[in-house]
Amino acid sequence: MSIQFEVMHKDIAGRVGRLTVGDKRIRTPALLPVVNPHIQIISPAEMAAMGIEGLITNAYIFSKSADFREEALSRGLHSVLGFDGLIMTDSGSFQLSVYGSVDTTNETTISFQRDIGSDIWVPLDIPTHPDSPRETVEADLSVTMSRLREAKEIFGDDAPLAGPVQGGLHPDLREQAGRETSELGFAFCPIGAVVPLLEGYRYKELVRSVISAKKGLSSAACVHLFGAGHPSMFALAVAMGCDIFDSAAYALYAREGRYITPSGTLKLAEIAELPCACSVCRSHTADELRSAPDKERLLAYHNLAVTQAEISRIRLSIQEGTLWDLVDERCRSHPRLLEGYRELLKHAHLLERSDRATKRRFFYRGDESCKRTEVIKFQEMIPRIRLSKRSLILCGGPQPQEFEEVLELRPPFGAVPTELSETAPMGQSEVPEWDDAMLESAFAGVDALLSANPDTEVTFSATPDLVDLIRKRFPAHKVIS
Ligand SMILES: [Zn+2]
Repeated sequence: MSIQFEVMHKDIAGRVGRLTVGDKRIRTPALLPVVNPHIQIISPAEMAAMGIEGLITNAYIFSKSADFREEALSRGLHSVLGFDGLIMTDSGSFQLSVYGSVDTTNETTISFQRDIGSDIWVPLDIPTHPDSPRETVEADLSVTMSRLREAKEIFGDDAPLAGPVQGGLHPDLREQAGRETSELGFAFCPIGAVVPLLEGYRYKELVRSVISAKKGLSSAACVHLFGAGHPSMFALAVAMGCDIFDSAAYALYAREGRYITPSGTLKLAEIAELPCACSVCRSHTADELRSAPDKERLLAYHNLAVTQAEISRIRLSIQEGTLWDLVDERCRSHPRLLEGYRELLKHAHLLERSDRATKRRFFYRGDESCKRTEVIKFQEMIPRIRLSKRSLILCGGPQPQEFEEVLELRPPFGAVPTELSETAPMGQSEVPEWDDAMLESAFAGVDALLSANPDTEVTFSATPDLVDLIRKRFPAHKVIS
């Protein structure tokens, strides 16, 4: 019953894939709603009707519950929860992070998860708070790694075990943890202890942690961002290569009267309209929802529906090759998300290696677009362009006949030989009137072209408004207009 992960479509480092464990199969990216057996505000059967293919519950709660322990051991988890999709169980590590200790061992919790028929079992890893000193992070990581090794030794290579990746905010430790987890043969890897980063809107540090873990992990691993449940950051996380999310947010936010949207959270007490098309929002006005006797349940339903819809939107955008557009849109909904997006763009050279070759479109959406993988992919190819003796770079100016070779300035990419101008990504690109950022990005591409062809006599042909700028930027070259 080993864990299999297949990738069908890619965009940036995001994937649309298929996670299979035994006879259970889910499409990824996927959301696993958190189900607390004691408080089933939305029942697993209702979740299945909403299109949810997998969920996560806490084995530790089952093991310590007089009501549920024996029932789960005798009937199995799927029967107790009334859900025949994929069920992942957490080990008690969450309780460990909250209460500081748990009354179980690594072997006991994994055996219990196996015995109740869970599909994915999590060892008792140590979720170290990200702000802990390095010595603590190192010591905890060493315990986590020894428990992962122990789990493999006791339960075997085919056991459906998750391999959590810890390492706090230290890029080297996260990368090392990722590498060792993959070397141990774990195919399903949750990135752990990021909840304090999510709660503190520390998206820049989140991006660094995930990117570091991903550097160490095998590209074939299915990656779960443990504890991430707000849809506004899913696109950013998927772009880094996260495949699975779990959400308790739908229920926790409902308890606090908070209405989730893909771009943030609203207070139900303050809103005049319900900007959503789910069955709750179509059948209630904001006033009716506020005064409904089962308000919390209805709000939880909406929160889950809107979260699930974002997952579908992300899967679609990966298949279409438009994930950058969605990341850009979502990350503009909060300045801290924008910081995370800008941090992600700093790693675009790395992301470029996993990105697909062709996409549906390149829509310029502002300065950040200059740093996207498509621009980097083209600019990395520039040194291979060989120019003949006399070349002309058209920047909107006239095209005299005497040049052997004509290139076109295509911001933000660079100077593109005319025979390449309709190929990807230039052929799919749409840019507004040229701005300073996209011109500077294109000029950097021209710099690379000029240094790769030092013996070529390059002339620029510019519109009158660009002549001075180009003369200043490329003083050694002739500019005609
Ligand atoms: Zn709704």
